[in-house]
Amino acid sequence: MDMVILRKRNNLRMKKALILLIILTTIIVSAQNNTTYWQQHVDYTMDIDFDVKNYQYKGTQKLIYTNNSPETLHNVFYHLYYNAFQPNSEMDARLQAIVDPDGRMVNNLGTNQNPKYESRIAKLKLNEIGYLKVLSLKQNGEELKYTTEGTVLEVKLNTPLQPGKKVTFDMIFEGQLPVHIRRAGRNNEDNVALSMAQWYPKMAEYDFEGWHAHPYIAREFFGVWGDFDVTLHIDRNYTVGGTGVLQNPQEIGHGYEDASQKLKLSKEQKLNWHFVAENVNDFTWAADPNYTHDKLITASGTELHFLYKNTEEYSKAWKEIQPLTEKALNYYNENIGKYPWKQYSVIQGGDGGMEYAMCTFIAGGKSLNEIAGTVFHELAHTWFHTILATNENKNSWMDEGFTEYISSLASNKILKGGDGKPSSSSYSGYFYLVNNGFDEPLTTHADRFNTNIAFSVGSYTKGSMFLTQLNYIIGEENVKEMLKKYFTDFKFKHPTPNDAKRVAEKVSGLQLDWFLNEWIETTHTIDYAIAKVGERNITLARVGQMPMPIDLTVTYIDGTKEDFNIPLRMMRGNKPTTATILKDWTWAHPTYSFLVSKEIRSIVIDPLEMMADIDKTNNTFQKE
Ligand SMILES: [Zn+2]
Repeated sequence: MDMVILRKRNNLRMKKALILLIILTTIIVSAQNNTTYWQQHVDYTMDIDFDVKNYQYKGTQKLIYTNNSPETLHNVFYHLYYNAFQPNSEMDARLQAIVDPDGRMVNNLGTNQNPKYESRIAKLKLNEIGYLKVLSLKQNGEELKYTTEGTVLEVKLNTPLQPGKKVTFDMIFEGQLPVHIRRAGRNNEDNVALSMAQWYPKMAEYDFEGWHAHPYIAREFFGVWGDFDVTLHIDRNYTVGGTGVLQNPQEIGHGYEDASQKLKLSKEQKLNWHFVAENVNDFTWAADPNYTHDKLITASGTELHFLYKNTEEYSKAWKEIQPLTEKALNYYNENIGKYPWKQYSVIQGGDGGMEYAMCTFIAGGKSLNEIAGTVFHELAHTWFHTILATNENKNSWMDEGFTEYISSLASNKILKGGDGKPSSSSYSGYFYLVNNGFDEPLTTHADRFNTNIAFSVGSYTKGSMFLTQLNYIIGEENVKEMLKKYFTDFKFKHPTPNDAKRVAEKVSGLQLDWFLNEWIETTHTIDYAIAKVGERNITLARVGQMPMPIDLTVTYIDGTKEDFNIPLRMMRGNKPTTATILKDWTWAHPTYSFLVSKEIRSIVIDPLEMMADIDKTNNTFQKE
């Protein structure tokens, strides 16, 4: 071969190699790139016949499941939540093993000082347990093989489900509503007959991380979006409230009817309630023969329904809460984004309060004070559970924390006339965790925190402090804008922690990788100190492992004050501020010194106490 040909051949080989490299790079990049978002889709049609005497029900379920993932599925998984309420279930075992069991789920046979807990689940008799039994299941008309493993149904598909394809699952099932232990059950402490949460075989979520067929241990849910068409046959004396809009109000009455039209009630012992809910991730209902049902149509057009026990002890608070619920709804509409459904129901139904799609279960309510905070919290969940539906098992802090943050601002404004600024007083729970060694990384699965207190203070308080700390780091106006953009960009999706962080970065123009990592994935704490003060110079120290930008106020000997801001270099900028901006502080340098223009009288780090500094004793200096 002469050299020219060789060179040509080499060129050709190089070109081929280059093309191959480009193709490979494209494949690798697109495999690593998680921007092509997809989510599965469900459409349920259920017909349920409920026997109010023995708390049992039979149902058929047609589920059209759409595989929007790029994968072929060979299995699917359903949750059978009520199987948790059986002696020796995983929920029972965990309840008996955890050092600080939920007081609602145990009897204390000892004293307050010396408790001896007994699991209430362990004591359930056969006619008191909960269960969901699948009697038959078909894929596109053909019988399927399945096994029940505790609270999860494992299903092997006859024909693999290809990407982009739909499949129809037809199921016959029966269930028994347990004695009320947690969230769902019969005849709870307020004597509400039927609290029907997590009551049907429910398809587990499959997303970019794979299947989330977690067993029901204690808490938190994650559901697939879709439409629900539910017909419920139940004793005519019972009033039902829940997810969805009633399609046949004139055949039902019970406060749903158009009073100007004639009722068309059947003579049967059971009424046939037909509900439709569009684009929700769950379907929940409650029923009682003794509910009062009030309706309030808000100025913005949302129908608020209130269902509560028709007894004197509850009626005052449940009347007073109605206009306040509208105010809270308006607050969330304005500060996050518009409530998207036609209807929302506040239902006396469960212990404490629990959020569901288009409704909530609220316990008690003998005084407005007793329920107002809970109603505000549970309503706010609509935005961070039903609209921005994070994986609550993995990131309970996003759901509980963001909810706690916005509902405490709403409570502060509506109930106390406050200015709606985040308050440092809510940090005490977090400081308690840290000081007692209970703090765990917020990325811990909700069921697997060592203690209940680590889960609850972590998810609610430390979770809400993700946003209060952001107020400190990127500024209040940026956080306000972030919440709205988070809603706009991720509504009806499953946002991840990084999605929330990216929105904060986009509105502020600042980099926040370090903050997400430190606050959520570690138990590092913040502690800054004034280390040394001269006549005009100041040395600060980072004592804790977690870095932060620093706000600091110096009072000079002549009585004038100057605010300073020390940006953290990793942020690549600083929040909007009127303070004097000093040079960056890098993470690795434990100390930082700077000069001021006049003689110093006193110094205070973070004068507004927004930073979650665990030791404030070293935050101030006063010249003697
Ligand atoms: Zn909550």
